Amino acid sequence: MTEPSPKSNLARFAEAAVHQLEQVDPELSAILDNEYRRQAKVLTMVASSSIADPSSLICEAMTPMNVTAEGYPGRRFHAGCRHIDEIEQLAIDRTKAIFGAQFANVQPMTASSANEVVMFSTLKPGDTLLGMDLDSGGHLTHGSKASISGQVFNAVGYGLDSNERLDYDQAHALAREHKPKLIICGTTAYAREIDWARFRAIADEVGAYVLADITHVAGLVAAGIHSSPIDHAHFTTTCTHKQLFGGRGGLIMIGKDHDQPAHDEPGKTLAQVIQNRVFPYFQGAPNQSSIAAKARGMGFVGSDGFKAVARRIVDLSQALAAAFVDKGYRVITGGTDNHIVVVDVMQKGITGVNAEKALEDCGIVVNKNRIPFDQKPPSVTSGIRLGTNGLAIREMEPEDMVECVEVIHDVLSHLEQSGEKEYRVDAGAAARAEAEVARLCALRPIRTYPPVQG
Ligand SMILES: *Cc1c(COP(=O)(O)O)cnc(C)c1O
Repeated sequence: MTEPSPKSNLARFAEAAVHQLEQVDPELSAILDNEYRRQAKVLTMVASSSIADPSSLICEAMTPMNVTAEGYPGRRFHAGCRHIDEIEQLAIDRTKAIFGAQFANVQPMTASSANEVVMFSTLKPGDTLLGMDLDSGGHLTHGSKASISGQVFNAVGYGLDSNERLDYDQAHALAREHKPKLIICGTTAYAREIDWARFRAIADEVGAYVLADITHVAGLVAAGIHSSPIDHAHFTTTCTHKQLFGGRGGLIMIGKDHDQPAHDEPGKTLAQVIQNRVFPYFQGAPNQSSIAAKARGMGFVGSDGFKAVARRIVDLSQALAAAFVDKGYRVITGGTDNHIVVVDVMQKGITGVNAEKALEDCGIVVNKNRIPFDQKPPSVTSGIRLGTNGLAIREMEPEDMVECVEVIHDVLSHLEQSGEKEYRVDAGAAARAEAEVARLCALRPIRTYPPVQG
């Protein structure tokens, strides 16, 4: 008989920690358990989310968080960083290898702060930046007045053309007119591939830097399904928790321009300026457990199996878009190249917020989203945005997308709207939807998580 192998220190720690949490804080652990159950039992189709690999999640809970480590590997302001340095270097090396980058900084706590770092590396207060309008699919940090990007800088916005496609000609004309020092591309709600080279050509003409924010499509870029901006943009940013499946935070990469001299900082390269702006300009000591989780996320994204996950993400979203079109819905741009599907629900007389709430009541989690030239405010909207990152982790099949749209259509067809934010769903339709969501979740469980007990 073989002896059962002794548990590793990490396994004993994780088990003891959860046990202790349940003992000392039943109130909090009950909420955490409820959240675990919720995720297992709903179809999460929020395009800006995913289901992290458990091997990444557990890194977030490990002891590196105890270490205060200002600085960078080999150059810390604190002692005790030997293994911390190894973790951060591994995250950097894996990131560079996966994206073909020459430089990576893995310390930003969020993608928003990664973008802010790039802005404050290339712009002074009052300087002009050109980014995509929030309404057209740009992110808050691309120049919206609601964010520091639109308050501290003079933000000019480009949008979509009459075909709902990114209007490169408008971006070009605005760049010539306003001479921005930074042009930001990359979106949160645009279902089509982005032409990074075109943005670089525009930027070169006016002497601007390019920031490509690939947060939404980072996994597709890593898998080679979406073209890479690494050598087109001067800076590429992404979060690590949407399509890279683990480690909540952001990172900044530079490709071939890493050793270019910075315009406004004599004697410094672009990479050196970024290092400086992350720490000490914006942040103190980074969260080293998150960095471990980022390293693990990159391990997952760099693995042989990941290409199939990325392929599935796109296959599912294309099937989802086609199923909506079949049911008579107006899908923005008519389809998708990535994981995003944006649907006009106002055309069916329903506001985005009512559609979101009604679907959530039945176990389908999507988010309200403005559509091009939307007449409704952001708190109401005329559309919903769906994404397939989480469905791919459940190993759903394209046929399942037809089922999902059947359920969504059933709910929306039995929704009675009494105000922009008031609605009622027919009880029979709601019950049918809940049963179908339960069936789908049981048929396609989150493969990597232990099933819910009890
Ligand atoms: C979500 C998102 C961000 C912000 O990510 P956080 O980590 O939540 O700050 C930045 N840019 C784009 C394009 C996004 O979709």
